[in-house]
Amino acid sequence: MKRWEKTVQDNYGTPSLELVSGKGSIVRDSNGVTYLDFLAGIATNILGHAHPAIVKSVSKQIATLGHVSNFYAHPNVLELAQKLQKMTGDSSARTFFCNSGAEANEAALKLSRKTGKDRIVATQEAFHGRTMGALSLTGQPSKRNPFKPLIKGIKHVPFGDSSAMRRAINKKTAMVIVEPIMGEAGVIVPPDDYLKNLRQYCDENGALLVFDCVQTGMGRTGDWFGYEYSGIRPDVITLAKGLGGGLPIGAMIAMGSASQLFAAGDHGSTFGGNPIATAAALAVISSIEKEKTLQKVDELGILLRTELALIPGVSEVRGAGLLIGLTLDKPVAKELVKKCQELGALINAPSASVIRLAPALNISTAQVKKFIGIFRQALQEVSHV
Ligand SMILES: *Cc1c(COP(=O)(O)O)cnc(C)c1O
Repeated sequence: MKRWEKTVQDNYGTPSLELVSGKGSIVRDSNGVTYLDFLAGIATNILGHAHPAIVKSVSKQIATLGHVSNFYAHPNVLELAQKLQKMTGDSSARTFFCNSGAEANEAALKLSRKTGKDRIVATQEAFHGRTMGALSLTGQPSKRNPFKPLIKGIKHVPFGDSSAMRRAINKKTAMVIVEPIMGEAGVIVPPDDYLKNLRQYCDENGALLVFDCVQTGMGRTGDWFGYEYSGIRPDVITLAKGLGGGLPIGAMIAMGSASQLFAAGDHGSTFGGNPIATAAALAVISSIEKEKTLQKVDELGILLRTELALIPGVSEVRGAGLLIGLTLDKPVAKELVKKCQELGALINAPSASVIRLAPALNISTAQVKKFIGIFRQALQEVSHV
């Protein structure tokens, strides 16, 4: 950790562990200690560590063709774009590939400017990334304030509040961006009719509806995309995190008239849609299909949420599929993260009394049960200090 402090920027603080290997939902640190991974690289290693299909697909690709730039097509980018189009259920869907969630949202922001309008509505506490455009969409003052001035014309309204949205959206609105479930904010689920209402307000005002599915996409909630339960479709979907199963890849998928807004020369990325990153994404999608992972996500999510709700010291459990947030009776989340680590499980605390869990989607029932035991013991120990 001394080496980290001497050579790596301090923007993350100093990590508490150095991880060296992993298999499925188990990771091993540089002292040989193993942990159950209930954070999965921040909801990213959707099929765990070293999944054989990803290893095979990526290894084969790097030995065949590593990078070509978007001056040229290659088989993987074509196949992945086609797969994503199919997953949206909309044959007009066209994808722009990039390398991260922030970049996917940057692309959506630029796309919205092509409508000829420039007002945007986003939500308070939402997280859309850290680059200047994505940060302007992000609704967390602690992340925004040091970097002002940000992009103008973006209004942030309370998340889940349909009438606040109705008041904020008007004919000047170019786009509305929301997370179907807010992830970084602590796994906040909106009321049932919220997304549907947004669709209606956007349609009435000719605004693009963008769902940031960077965290809730790729099966995390039990569906391909976190909004599917609502029965409506957005104009734009942004993806990253789980898409590459651990390799950096992002996507901005636009549908309907939004799919026609970008013209040649409007946007680009040197690495976007790279053969290796797309090989990983193709392996992720085909493994989820082959292993029928989405069905298991619901089952495991219910088991986890039901058991966690019974633990003394847990006041609320929420989320969908394997994206789970819990509120603790006492503000001991940071201590709980530390204690769980000592007892052999990695979890995350978005705030002083909130815990977020986002294990790999193919975690076993036995591993889920083992985790619940660790979590119960850890919470009991930190609550009595
Ligand atoms: C993580 C996240 C982002 C940013 O993704 P990066 O790859 O870190 O740039 C954007 N939106 C949501 C909802 C996220 O969870």
